[in-house]
Amino acid sequence: MVIGAGALGLSTALHCALAGRSVAVAERLTAGSQASGRAAGLFKSVQADEPRTRLARRSIEKVISFAGWAGVPLEVARSGSFLIARTAQHREFLRRELAQSRRWGTDVREASAAQVASQLSYYRAAGEEFALWCPEDVYIHEPASLVRAYLNACQLNGTVVLEKEPVVGIRITNGCVAGVETSGRSIAAPVVVDAAGGWVQQVAALAGASVPVAPVRHQLLITGPIPEVDPADPITRVVDAAVYLRPANGGLMFGGFEAGPLPVDPRHQPASFTTDDVPLDLGVLRQLAAQVAAEIPVAGTAPVAEHRGGLFTMSPDGRFVVGPVPDLPGLWVAGGCNGSGFSSSPAIGEALAAWITSGTAPAGVAALSPGRFAPLPEDALVTRGLWQYSHYYDPVDTRLTATPASVPARIETAAE
Ligand SMILES: Cc1cc2nc3c(=O)[nH]c(=O)nc-3n(C[C@H](O)[C@H](O)[C@H](O)COP(=O)(O)OP(=O)(O)OC[C@H]3O[C@@H](n4cnc5c(N)ncnc54)[C@H](O)[C@@H]3O)c2cc1C
Repeated sequence: MVIGAGALGLSTALHCALAGRSVAVAERLTAGSQASGRAAGLFKSVQADEPRTRLARRSIEKVISFAGWAGVPLEVARSGSFLIARTAQHREFLRRELAQSRRWGTDVREASAAQVASQLSYYRAAGEEFALWCPEDVYIHEPASLVRAYLNACQLNGTVVLEKEPVVGIRITNGCVAGVETSGRSIAAPVVVDAAGGWVQQVAALAGASVPVAPVRHQLLITGPIPEVDPADPITRVVDAAVYLRPANGGLMFGGFEAGPLPVDPRHQPASFTTDDVPLDLGVLRQLAAQVAAEIPVAGTAPVAEHRGGLFTMSPDGRFVVGPVPDLPGLWVAGGCNGSGFSSSPAIGEALAAWITSGTAPAGVAALSPGRFAPLPEDALVTRGLWQYSHYYDPVDTRLTATPASVPARIETAAE
C-alpha cells in the first residue's frame, strides 16, 4: 500500500508491482497534482556524494530507457547541462565537484568559454566563468508526462491508483502495520509506504511516527517565447547565484534558491491546504534574475507566461529519507526529497521496492534510512532544512555546525 501518488509514490508502487507484489496507491487529490506536477523536470548527474551520484545516474539511465523496462513511452530531452561558477570560491568548488564526480563515474568535463558561448544561445559570457559540461544530464519538458508514464505503467502491471481518497488512518496490530483507512474504505496491507511529500509527517503521525523533514517553498517561472532562445539549448546552472535555466515552450524556464527561503508546513495550515495555497512571490525570482542580469538579461526582462511553485521537503543533512520507520514494522518512508525527488524517483522507487521485497537494502541505501536521525527540536529541524535549501548547489560545508544559529520566522500562509 502506497500513500501518495507523486513521483516517489508511483515509482515505488510500480517497482513493487514489477517485483510481483499486489499494490494499491491512495491519493488525497489527483496523481501528480502536488510537488511532482510543478517540478522543473531537471536531472543532474553531478551530486554532493557518491550514493546520491549513483541514484542520480541510475535515474537518468532508467528515464531514458523507460519504454524498455516500464513498457510505456516517455519523451526525454537529452540536452546535457553546463555548471557555471563566477566567483573564486565557486570555481574552486566546481573543480572539486569535477574531480570527485569523475571518480564516481560521471562523465563531466571542463568547458571552455568558447564552448559555453557556442552552445548557449541566451548566455553572454563575461569571460571570467569557470564551466563544467555535463553531457549525461537530461530534462523532461512537462513533469506531468513522467507522472502519466508511471500511472500507465502501474496500470499495465495491475496497480490500482485510488484518487481523491485520502488516507485518514494507519491500522496497527500487535505493534505491526496492518493496513490503512481511507476516506472510503479499509485496506489490509502488511507494508505501507508513506510517500505523502509535503504531508509526509502528517501521514507518519497517523501511526504515531515522525519523519524529520522541513517543507520549504520553491518557485520557478517560464517566460513567453523568446526568439533568440534555441529550444535545443542545454540546461544551465549558475551555482554562485543558485539559479537554473532551460528552454521551455519557446522561451526559458528560470528558477532558483533564495538565501532566505520560506518554510511552509502543512501541519500549521488548514486541513484543506494544497500546493495551490503555497504563496508565490515573483519578487524572489526577480532578485535571483538580477544576479545574472549581465549574463542572462532575458531571465529578468522577458514577459512571464507561467509562475509556479510548491514544496520541497528538506532533511537536516540534505539527503533523502528512504527506508523503514524504526520500531514500527511494516511502515516505510519515501520522502525528504530535498528538491531532487522528481529526478531521483526512478532509482529511489527501484531501490525501495528491492529493499521491501527482498528485506535487504541495496548498496548505499541503508544510509538514507529515517532511523539515522537523533530526535531534533522543531526549530533546529527547520533551520537545518533551510540551510540545505539555500545551499542546494553548493553544500560546501554540510557539517551541521555550519548551519545558521538563528531560526527564520515561520510565515503562516493563512495570514498572507
Ligand atoms: C517548483 C518546483 C520545481 C522543482 N524542480 C525539480 C526538478 O527539476 N528536479 C527534481 O528532481 N525535483 C524538482 N522538484 C522537487 C520535486 O517536485 C519533488 O522532490 C518531488 O515531486 C517529490 O515527489 P513526492 O512524490 O514525494 O511528492 P508529491 O508529488 O507532493 O506527492 C505526494 C502526494 O501525496 C499526497 N498525499 C498527501 N497526504 C495524503 C494522504 N493523507 N493520503 C493520500 N495521499 C496523500 C499528496 O496529495 C501528493 O499528491 C521541484 C519542486 C518544485 C515545487
